[in-house]
Amino acid sequence: MIYQRLKMKKLSKKCFQIALIALFTFTMPSYGSEQPWYNSIISEKRLYNMSVAATNFAMGIRTIINKSIMATNPDKFIKMYKNRLAQIEKNIRTDEQNQFYEIAKEHGLRDMDVKTGLEIINKINLSYRESHNKLNPNAVHDKNISPELFSILQKKLAEGNIDIKNVSVTNSDIPSPDGFDAENRHSYKYTYAIAQDGSIPFAAYSNEEPINIIFYPKFHLHNKSIQQGSCIHEATHVIEGHNVTQGIVATLIGGVTQKNPSDVKESKSFQKLVQIHERQAEVLPSLKDREAASLMREDRFTGYYPNMLYGEHYLQLSDIDETHKMIAYLEDIKKYPPNPYHPYY
Ligand SMILES: [Zn+2]
Repeated sequence: MIYQRLKMKKLSKKCFQIALIALFTFTMPSYGSEQPWYNSIISEKRLYNMSVAATNFAMGIRTIINKSIMATNPDKFIKMYKNRLAQIEKNIRTDEQNQFYEIAKEHGLRDMDVKTGLEIINKINLSYRESHNKLNPNAVHDKNISPELFSILQKKLAEGNIDIKNVSVTNSDIPSPDGFDAENRHSYKYTYAIAQDGSIPFAAYSNEEPINIIFYPKFHLHNKSIQQGSCIHEATHVIEGHNVTQGIVATLIGGVTQKNPSDVKESKSFQKLVQIHERQAEVLPSLKDREAASLMREDRFTGYYPNMLYGEHYLQLSDIDETHKMIAYLEDIKKYPPNPYHPYY
């Protein structure tokens, strides 16, 4: 009896959460998806599936209503939607910056160390970007990678000024020890100098081996669109240098606090940074390109990513996808205005 009551209670809490998601999706998706409490309420596969279905349902109704309102003034709303996309990019980049401060706080860094650390991160990232121009004669491309996926990787990397000739793309026969379908690996080193006044006169990144995008056996079990989405996801990590940033943050903090960098990586605030990078890997390409947006949304509809991306992420991807579709719809209305005398033609 008591057990049943507990179960009921748990169930009604879940129903409440789902209803909350539907409500936020319907009224203000951008706001809802950026709330910290929204971040972690969905962490179970079954619940995730229910929440994405609720999101889609509410999103659909919202789009129907919006279409009729916004068709009256397409220019105004196109501008509004484009601003919204720009704002989402700004926010997700600010999230990363803010997280650097959170990590510093958790590990008790002094303000001066934080300032120096941020300068080092920025300079190494700059050097990382410059390194893309250098030729990497050791890069290898596995012959079994389908030409279609290869060209998706090539196109995406080129947007970040990275020539795929300098990046290895390989299939692994052995599963990823971390359970990944795909990942990117860098073997790199970096050096920097700190002047007496705390400024950084010198900071440089260099590859020891070419950056490697690796597909594990599990990757090949997925359908085509999930594979395509994964390629865009991994290429974005490479473009943004997420691996490098995470490596520097862990070693810098380890250096200042005498902690083992791998312990720093386990810390709560660091894991949050990893999560922000995972979101960026899907949100940034979706903002840039309409097709990527619908691909990413489709992938995350079925592709639950435990302990990393939750219902709020799906909501954000859906919002971006719908925003692109609304812009296209309004552009069409501008091109072919409805004839007021023949409304049914
Ligand atoms: Zn990732």
